[in-house]
Amino acid sequence: MKTHNWRARARIDGRALRHNLAVARRLAPASRVMAVVKSNAYGHGMAEVCRALGGQAEAFAVATLQEGIDCRAAAPSVPVTLLSGLQRPADLQDCRRHRLDPVLHHEEHLRWVEQHRGALGSLSAWLKIDTGMNRLGIAPARVADAVDRLRRSGVGDIRLMSHLANADDVSDRRTATQLRRFKRATAAFKSARSLANSAAVMKWPRTHFDWVRPGIMLYGGAPLLGVRGPELDLSPVMQLEAKLISVKTVRKGEAIGYGGAFTAPGPMRIGVVGFGYGDGYPRIVDRASAAPPPAVLIGGARAPLVGRVSMDMLSVDLSACEDAAIGRKVTLWGDGLSVDEVADWAGTISYELLCKISERVAREPVDPAQ
Ligand SMILES: *Cc1c(COP(=O)(O)O)cnc(C)c1O
Repeated sequence: MKTHNWRARARIDGRALRHNLAVARRLAPASRVMAVVKSNAYGHGMAEVCRALGGQAEAFAVATLQEGIDCRAAAPSVPVTLLSGLQRPADLQDCRRHRLDPVLHHEEHLRWVEQHRGALGSLSAWLKIDTGMNRLGIAPARVADAVDRLRRSGVGDIRLMSHLANADDVSDRRTATQLRRFKRATAAFKSARSLANSAAVMKWPRTHFDWVRPGIMLYGGAPLLGVRGPELDLSPVMQLEAKLISVKTVRKGEAIGYGGAFTAPGPMRIGVVGFGYGDGYPRIVDRASAAPPPAVLIGGARAPLVGRVSMDMLSVDLSACEDAAIGRKVTLWGDGLSVDEVADWAGTISYELLCKISERVAREPVDPAQ
């Protein structure tokens, strides 16, 4: 039983999740939605996210077999797609057992299915085609043969998919090339088709087909380069919070934290926040090139980071937060400070920051509707 007060928490807003899913649906009104919940629902908590989206998404998608089993437990009656988790022939039996729809993306997978001919029941599967990303998928020229082999092996429902490498860049012409290849490779079949990730849901309507596969946009992160979630009518799902564990004043010329990387230009009130890279905050944030500089939110005001981020804490300048005292709540990202902005400071993308929130941060569902 939890007897202590919270130290750091990620509040997960179910209403924001459903709002973001509704945005995807409005953008792709003729498509079904496969909500991508891999990597612990982008760090938000698989079970909670599946519960919050229950009845709203027509399917879920995960990466690993274990995620598939967890997702199946959280959503007993919703189709679950296994995007990349097949490692050996016997994994197909686990797919059957847990009613997961595997993505078959390699010639070897076709052989595994043939080895199980007649033993996979009414397995549904996605056949993945490599249309230019050069990561997973069979060659477009091999599709007809692959579909034929899967049919003869008793796979009941064969759907066709591919993945886009550059949809986040609206001006990138390679997306049109991938779309053209996908259409050409799939035109001869009546199978359901899927191509669009979040970025394509937003900016490439011709890629929507029968199923769209939004991930990051469901969590409120922007899927497009140089844009932040709120500008796209996406609501942040995660409020990442910690507390001030120390407040003190330092004199002019005092250096703060490991390496003395910051020197106070005058007397300064410094707050120490109980959240560091051990909790998933990026250790490297670029203070020089960001305007406004990297900061946290305290009572709605920005408190800029000073000195290095350490494992369990980080230091901030409290000049703009006069009344801040020990125990005061601090927001690392969420409303008023987009995770996309923090990702920019760290030279990465919101996906990575969200996935890396560590286990010592409690996920707390906030869901007024349920
Ligand atoms: C992760 C993933 C998605 C979702 O991508 P987002 O950019 O988060 O929308 C869609 N399709 C596949 C195959 C994926 O691996």
